[in-house]
Order: sequence, then C-alpha cells, then structure tokens
Amino acid sequence: MSKIILTGDRPTGRLHLGHYVGSLKRRVQLQNSGEYDKIFIMIADAQALTDNFDNPDKIRDNIIEVALDYLSVGLDPAKTNMFIQSVVTELTELTFYYANLVTVSRLERNPTVKTEIKMRNFETSIPVGFFTYPISQASDITAFKATTVPVGEDQLPMIEQTREIVRKFNATYNAEVLVEPDALIPENATCSRLPGTDGKAKMSKSLGNCICLSDSEEELNKKVMDMYTDPLHLKVSDPGHLEGNAVFTYLDAFATDDDFAEFLPDYKNLDEMKAHYTSGGLGDMKCKRFLMAVLNKELAPIRARRKEYEKDIPAVYDILRKGTEVARAEAAQTLSEVKAAMRINYFDDEALIQGQQARFNS
Ligand code: ATP
Ligand code: MG
Repeated sequence: MSKIILTGDRPTGRLHLGHYVGSLKRRVQLQNSGEYDKIFIMIADAQALTDNFDNPDKIRDNIIEVALDYLSVGLDPAKTNMFIQSVVTELTELTFYYANLVTVSRLERNPTVKTEIKMRNFETSIPVGFFTYPISQASDITAFKATTVPVGEDQLPMIEQTREIVRKFNATYNAEVLVEPDALIPENATCSRLPGTDGKAKMSKSLGNCICLSDSEEELNKKVMDMYTDPLHLKVSDPGHLEGNAVFTYLDAFATDDDFAEFLPDYKNLDEMKAHYTSGGLGDMKCKRFLMAVLNKELAPIRARRKEYEKDIPAVYDILRKGTEVARAEAAQTLSEVKAAMRINYFDDEALIQGQQARFNS
C-alpha cells in the first residue's frame, strides 16, 4: 500500500512554535526521508471559516502567511503538494455524504471540540458548520487516502472520528474505498502540546500567547522576557519550581546538549540546570537569556528563508496553485470511487441504464 501524508493548518494567523514542534518539524523530516509516496499539506481555509465566517479577510490574508511559514521551515514544493482546502470542492461533497454516517451525540462527545466551543463562547449556540468540522476533517484525510497524519495531540479525537467514518463507510457500502489513517504524534509530550508563553495549556493563535516563527529576534526576546515562570521564585537563592514553569517547558522542547556547550557551559545538560534551579541559586533572567539564545538559533535559518520567499509573493501563490491542482485531481478520483460505492454514479454506469430499460420492458 502507498504511504501518503495529509495534514494542515488553519489560516487564522502566522504559525508558531507549537506548530513547529507539534507538527511542522516532523513534516519536513518525513518529506526528506523519501519514505512517502505522496505528501499533501493543506491550508484549511474552509475549516477556519467555521469559526471566522464573519471575518473572511482574516482568512484571506493569512493564507500567504501560512504558505510562507511552510516554505521557510523547509517544506519543498518539489516534494510536497501545498494546497488551499476550499478550492478542492470535492472535499465539501465528501463531507455531505459522510455526515450521514455520524450522529450528533458522537460529535458532542469530541473532547477537543468541547474545549474549543467553550473557548469561543459557543455554548449557548453552536454554529452547525463548526460543530461538524470533524466530519470535514475526515474528508480532507480520506480524499487523499492518507495513511499518516502528523499532528499535535489535540487532533487525536479527529483522527479517531475519521477512522470510524472509514470503517462505517466501507462496511455500509461493502467497499474497500477508504483508508484508515494513523496519527503521528511527537514522542516528546511537551512537543505534542506546547503551552503558551502565559503558561496556559496550549499555545494557540486564538489565545494570543504565541511566539511566531516569523517573529524578529527583538520580538522573540521581549516575549521570552515576559514569560511566565515561578511566582514563588522571588530571590535568586530561592528554590525554583519547574511545574507549570513555561521557560523550562520550552527548554524541554528545544534545548539540546550542544546548546549548553554553546551558550551555557555552566551545565552539561538540562537535568543539571534543573537541579540547580530547584535547589536555589539560579535566577530566572539567566534561564530566559539561555532560552532566547536557543530559540533564536533554531529560528535564524527559518527567518532567513522567509525573507527570500517574501521577495516574490506571486511565485508563492503559484506554488499553492500548482499544489492545489494536484490535490484536486487526487480528491476527484476518490470522490468518484466513493460515488460508485454509494451507487450514485448514474451517468458513469452504462449497466444501470440498460438494466432499467430491461426492467421496463419486462
Ligand atoms: P487555532 O487557534 O485557530 O485553532 P491553532 O494554533 O490551534 O489555531 P491549528 O491550525 O488549529 O493551530 O493547528 C495546526 C496543527 O498544529 C495541528 O496539527 C495541531 O495539533 C498543531 N498544534 C497547534 N498548536 C499546537 C501546540 N501548542 N503544540 C503542539 N501542536 C500544536
Ligand atoms: Mg486549533
């Protein structure tokens, strides 16, 4: 069986460090591993509209931002098809048919959607489009017969929902058309759900607690300076706490032993640094300076590549246009198999017309 990747992001803002460690970095590794037959990366504008339908310009403007972020982290249009979701109208059609296979109570049980409904104050009145976006996500994944979906932990319920739809579809229509995907979550728990700079559960565009991949060195340094640490750690000599301390959480996600050798040779590794912090005598400022150095080192090549791509924006749209054409052809093929399995491919089925004639003749 072919190995196929599908994943994507909502164009609701520039991409941030959570995206990077949760999914983007892995995508680039997978892309360059040469182990995948096809790779599709989707800018999920239709999904973003489900909770931003009244602000289409926000989506419109952020498509290019996300595309630039993709190219700047090293996604390569020669190996990866980057495309815009809404242009692939086949996805909407699939969603309509899959909706028959899902109950309202099943959607209500989705823990990620529950959290997002609360975050958006949709409790009293949930837009139907938003409520059903896990079905549309199943369409995105299955349209490409994706086997592998590299995502952060918040997406696990969506993958599970997709697998259920695949099984139900194949069983109901007695066909082997759709493929059950596997999620690929970062092994490092911190990376699978990077908290915000405010220490809140998840760095998220909607919460405004992000360090963006495109932030300048100055912007990044300011955000790290303002970062949440340990409110009980008042004097340098006080013992510090690691629990909920965003600076150490980020170091968990980013700092390597080489970074210590380069920027903070007082310690060999993060364990030694943590031991000093918790016993007292290591100040927050020193920790923050180290974190700045680590992050700026990681982001420097990404910023430089972005600057290059920003010089020719029409070329970036062209990359999206080409990726979208390839994606569309792929989705159309799956849709036609789906319709054949559902027996709604009337005009493609000569036997149907002849069979009906025979019925009326008899
Ligand atoms: P929004 O607030 O609009 O939902 P978001 O910041 O949650 O935006 P998405 O576009 O919804 O970003 O997520 C895209 C991908 O990035 C998903 O695979 C998601 O799991 C992953 N991701 C997003 N935020 C984080 C995070 N803080 N840590 C790890 N992975 C993340
Ligand atoms: Mg999200």
